[in-house]
Amino acid sequence: MSFLLTCPNCGVREVTDFGYGGEVSLRPASRPTFRELNTYNYFRTNVAGVQREWWFHRSGCRAWFIAERDTRTNDVHFTALPGEDGAAEGDPQTPDASKAGGAGVVT
Ligand SMILES: [Zn+2]
Repeated sequence: MSFLLTCPNCGVREVTDFGYGGEVSLRPASRPTFRELNTYNYFRTNVAGVQREWWFHRSGCRAWFIAERDTRTNDVHFTALPGEDGAAEGDPQTPDASKAGGAGVVT
């Protein structure tokens, strides 16, 4: 299945231009327990629904960015450069200026 992603720097491109970097997750504290470290390294939420993910524009500007995508439909709600979306702080609010147009399912 192919769909479109909007790179915050380059604009709308086919998803084949990008590399998937996995779910956005919070890093453990500076001295994590083995369980916390294990969880961070090996466990994923793998939701059937909306999640925030890392993407890499490997055929373009080579920037890492964050996308919020519905894993069931591949509807992309927004993309943003790190630090512009509030994901690192766990803040669900997204500044309007960092939002790029969502791209729906194409094929
Ligand atoms: Zn780009």
